[in-house]
Amino acid sequence: MTELRGVGIGLGVAQGPVARMAEPLPAPTDTPSTLTAEAELARVREAVAAVARELEERGEKAGGLARDVLEAQAMMAEDPSLDEEVAARTSAGKTAEFAVYDAFASFRDTLAAMGGYLGERAADLDDVAQRVIARLRGLPAPGVPDPGHPFVLVAKDLAPADTALLDLDKVLALVTTDGGPTSHTAILAREKSIVAVVGAAAAKDLVDGETVIVDAAKGVVTSHPTDDELTQAQHRADARATAASAPLTPGALRDGTAVPLLANLGKPGGAAQAVELGAEGVGLFRTEFLFLSATQAPTVEEQTKAYTELLSAFPGKKVVVRALDAGADKPLAFLNDAHEDNPALGLRGLRALRASEDILREQLTALANADKATEADLWVMAPMVSNVEETAYFVGLAKEYGIKTAGVMVEVPSAALMARRILEIADFASIGTNDLTQYTMAADRLLGSVASFQDPWHPAVLQLIKATADGGKANGKPVGICGEAAADPLLAVVLVGLGATTLSMAPTALADVRASLLQYDLADARRIAEAALAADDAASARAAAQSAADPAA
Ligand code: PEP
Ligand code: MG
Repeated sequence: MTELRGVGIGLGVAQGPVARMAEPLPAPTDTPSTLTAEAELARVREAVAAVARELEERGEKAGGLARDVLEAQAMMAEDPSLDEEVAARTSAGKTAEFAVYDAFASFRDTLAAMGGYLGERAADLDDVAQRVIARLRGLPAPGVPDPGHPFVLVAKDLAPADTALLDLDKVLALVTTDGGPTSHTAILAREKSIVAVVGAAAAKDLVDGETVIVDAAKGVVTSHPTDDELTQAQHRADARATAASAPLTPGALRDGTAVPLLANLGKPGGAAQAVELGAEGVGLFRTEFLFLSATQAPTVEEQTKAYTELLSAFPGKKVVVRALDAGADKPLAFLNDAHEDNPALGLRGLRALRASEDILREQLTALANADKATEADLWVMAPMVSNVEETAYFVGLAKEYGIKTAGVMVEVPSAALMARRILEIADFASIGTNDLTQYTMAADRLLGSVASFQDPWHPAVLQLIKATADGGKANGKPVGICGEAAADPLLAVVLVGLGATTLSMAPTALADVRASLLQYDLADARRIAEAALAADDAASARAAAQSAADPAA
């Protein structure tokens, strides 16, 4: 057997025969056009319009998040500046095919150079170009294969148009060689709970028909698995299916210690699914996701409407909303558009909000309005807080607007180390383990080459989590976790053992975490956490926790 490493999305495991996505169409050659420039441009416009309509239709059919994604892609296809670039090339005597290929490629390079969220849109643009060129050549659009039986789909990266209409009865798992954890493949795989490993470069050598195990929890694809490995993977898949169909009880340890399980959301529209999956409230609402493509600050009315919709879905329940977290991986043009060499260390999170205090004040106004109009228990927190003074500033300002419960995110090691003082002032803290890991390990969370450092199991990260939880305990204040770490079933137990009072995660992870917590008493969780804390590195912390959790193993 051979293990191919990538980034796992979700916690599932699946096995089955590989079916590869067709390779992209060969690039058109730059042969002179035999038509007039006008005729070539007209061909392009007809093809672009047809592709845009097709994407919209697919979006309509798929609904949900997929519809937003496909509509955005259709708009990309019809972007007037792309049309200008194409026209410049057809005027210079290029064929329609070559003009599209060349113009889209230059746009894609600009997007890719931006990195982060926008960089990962480059794949979306490539897909549009392929579709337009296929149409110009009278060929079917490239897409998902149909081998006539269920399969593990292996592709370079999937375009939204492909993922949106995946037949979930046929696709057992997704594996991509490119794309990161914020690519559309990853986002949609999460939304649809498809087992996926993205960015597994070595998967390019997998061949059609060979059986693989796709283990999202470990981020590993196993080719040529042994019979034993196949059986074990099947057991795990069965255990997950049982957990998913277990009754929706509130989060708790075996001894009854309550550990409320909350949802991480980015759009009010996600609330229904979260409730359906048993979320006991919202532990992190990422408000910036509502405004990622906005060029101007959202109005108070617009925001009031969105927050009211969110809070209405959780009457009597806790909903933690985060003030806009702009910067680095989440650029918001209206909050920070200056170039910075190290944006993750720059004017981001609360720092950016303070520099544009009007925007923060408007957001607090909208949140207070929504709070008054609904029955939810609204908590508001600031992102990227690094010291006591920032805590006092934010909590003071939020209270000015009548926000009853105001807290901070602990994502910077300095805040974790100062937690005791910070939590004298803040009503609560929520630990963002994604950024806390990035800053503790000095490893950019978006950079594949340092991904191995980005592991929240590292004992240095666990120590900072413990320091924060201890700061909460000393002040009688709650300390929740809202980073991806809370979605790892065994790490969730460790986090509770370290003193976390709530866990918030993507709703699709709730069932696994609920089932995992129910296997341990508080004393077990503390013992397992101690074992992880005593390790030297992330891998040994995970292994130590595993053997402490299962002494028989
Ligand atoms: C985090 O950093 O862990 C977090 C929850 O915030 P985000 O992932 O949105 O930066
Ligand atoms: Mg963060």
